[in-house]
Amino acid sequence: MYNAKAFATLAQTSPLAPFNFQRRDPGAHDVQIEILFCGVCHTDVHIARNEWHGTTYPCVPGHEIVGRVVKVGAHVKKFKEGDLAGVGCMVDSCRTCENCQDDLEQFCTAGATFTYNAPDKVSGGLTYGGYSDSVVVDEAFVLKVPKNLNLAASAPLLCAGITTYSPLRHYKVAKGQKIGVVGLGGLGHMGVKLAKAFGAHVVVFTTSPNKVKDALRLGADEVVNSKNSDEMKKQANSFHFILDTVAAQHDINAYLVLLKRDGTLTQVGVPAEPLSVQVGSLIFGRRNFSGSLIGGIKETQEMLDFCGEHNITSDIELIPIQKINEAYERLVKNDVKYRFVIEMASLK
Ligand code: NAP
Ligand code: ZN
Ligand code: ZN
Repeated sequence: MYNAKAFATLAQTSPLAPFNFQRRDPGAHDVQIEILFCGVCHTDVHIARNEWHGTTYPCVPGHEIVGRVVKVGAHVKKFKEGDLAGVGCMVDSCRTCENCQDDLEQFCTAGATFTYNAPDKVSGGLTYGGYSDSVVVDEAFVLKVPKNLNLAASAPLLCAGITTYSPLRHYKVAKGQKIGVVGLGGLGHMGVKLAKAFGAHVVVFTTSPNKVKDALRLGADEVVNSKNSDEMKKQANSFHFILDTVAAQHDINAYLVLLKRDGTLTQVGVPAEPLSVQVGSLIFGRRNFSGSLIGGIKETQEMLDFCGEHNITSDIELIPIQKINEAYERLVKNDVKYRFVIEMASLK
């Protein structure tokens, strides 16, 4: 075991504060990574504040991790000391169930080991995430980060990137289709960039009029103020696919009725309270309402390689870790353009 530094919450209502703990030394298949940057996902806020009622404290959030390999175990094949490496939302899974065999470890029937706030099946106790100076992960769950991308701006690809890439691919979003992205935050702005890269006509739905210019700059073809019912009505029955990234309560029916016949709305945002679906918005037009959870490790690597090829990264605001509580407050107020990333050198 060795000492790791981090920021943690100790209780539902406590701010994040410095925290020291022990990580395992790398085993034969493990990679030890010096964390250089970690993105701040809205999930971190939900979990740090126990909004989904499943948090165990102390909690060290962070699952958009990039850094440099400092040590590898004897049997590690993919990485060597000095390589760039990334870790997303998962650090392990059973690897034998039907879903693991299908490269969908996020749906492991034995329960994937999430990067933080999950039982650690190797060391016991809880997993601690990326708001930390280092992490030790089995190489099977460590990703290769494209060298040509800005490293800090590629950290959010590990969650926001794959969470939007995976449903866009699953529903075969392509040229000639009209696609909606609801909410222009961390996930939403990645959804816009990726859907554009797949050739779609992209419409952003935002509640923030001050984001209209940015939405167009990020590649959107149209921007709709979702609070304006006339603007919403004009979009009725016209979408092949809509990706909803909203983290708070909102009227989902207002978006379902914008789908064409057989269109799909996929929910990736996770409001703490249930959403209410009017059956009428589904049965007229045989519309589909679905959900999606991050993506498997193979697809995460495919997404990173795609982003490397197409020069896609996140628009970020770099912060020292001491500003993390302020960043959470701003995230909740939709005041982020478009992802906070912690510069981990500030932890030393
Ligand atoms: P974020 O950066 O805070 O973005 C969320 C956006 O939703 C905001 O920027 C805002 O966009 C919109 N929004 C917020 N409150 C709203 C309201 N009351 N009504 C309508 N729109 C509202 O958050 P994020 O990091 O992208 O995460 C978004 C959600 O996805 C979170 O719930 C997170 O837990 C979840 N998530 C899910 C997965 C998964 O695998 N399914 C993975 C990662 C994250 P506008 O200002 O443009 O309206
Ligand atoms: Zn996330
Ligand atoms: Zn499994």
